[in-house]
Amino acid sequence: MPGLASIPSLVAALLAARVSAGSPTPTTGPRPLLEQPYTVVLDAGHGGSNSGCANAHGDVHEKDVTLALAIEVREILRERLPHAEIVLTRDDDRTLALADRVTRANEGGADVFVSLHANASPRHDQSGFETYVLDAQASSVDAALTARRENGSPGSAPGSGGAVPQAQSMVEQLRASAHRNAALALAGAIQREQATRFPGRSDRGVRQAAFDVLLGIKMPAVLFEAAFLDHGRDAAVLLDAEQRRSIAAGVAEALIEHYRRSQRGRTIAVPARCSAASGC
Ligand SMILES: [Zn+2]
Repeated sequence: MPGLASIPSLVAALLAARVSAGSPTPTTGPRPLLEQPYTVVLDAGHGGSNSGCANAHGDVHEKDVTLALAIEVREILRERLPHAEIVLTRDDDRTLALADRVTRANEGGADVFVSLHANASPRHDQSGFETYVLDAQASSVDAALTARRENGSPGSAPGSGGAVPQAQSMVEQLRASAHRNAALALAGAIQREQATRFPGRSDRGVRQAAFDVLLGIKMPAVLFEAAFLDHGRDAAVLLDAEQRRSIAAGVAEALIEHYRRSQRGRTIAVPARCSAASGC
């Protein structure tokens, strides 16, 4: 693993290493006559004084990897869906409360929210990728531990320590909403895209847990754990420019699928015929 000394230089190094192999391919298939507005919020997990987890050597922190991933997903989406608005909750190394991430997405009227993270396990022996949707009940002990670690960060919203009770107050409403189904479909697509690109890595599936950062989001929202940063082989994937670009491309592809799916269910308002009043 490369020794990467400082946080700013790490992000710079992560982003400077451009590769051609992971470049997106043009969208195939029929394109809609009218591209509908589509706003994606990419949330680079942690930041500033909240470093998140770290690699085994302690010189690479989650906050830098998530920022690099977010910027790369944004780049790919800008190429593939040039009409879409891609918003990052942070584009530098700043501390950002979870509540601010949620507020930014809600007030911006975003269509979808993806929080990007790297994982860690108590014994540093797990690997693979997984995607979470919000639920009061964790789908496994591992899922509960991951939620506890992500929620218990210094950058959490004030009073967010009691994550599960907070989530329980919202979850019935979320269950009833179409957003939850859309989030599950998006999570499934993210997992599929990763599994296609990384058949040798462990697909840990779509999981459910009470993540504060997904709480109160008024749109389909998922939390993606790209790899275990504290696992040597997984960390190597995250720090390799070509493989990380491929991870980002998979997330972008799932977001494009989400957009196409949402378009199919939408009635496009166009004038039945041209008239002087419509001006077409
Ligand atoms: Zn995290």
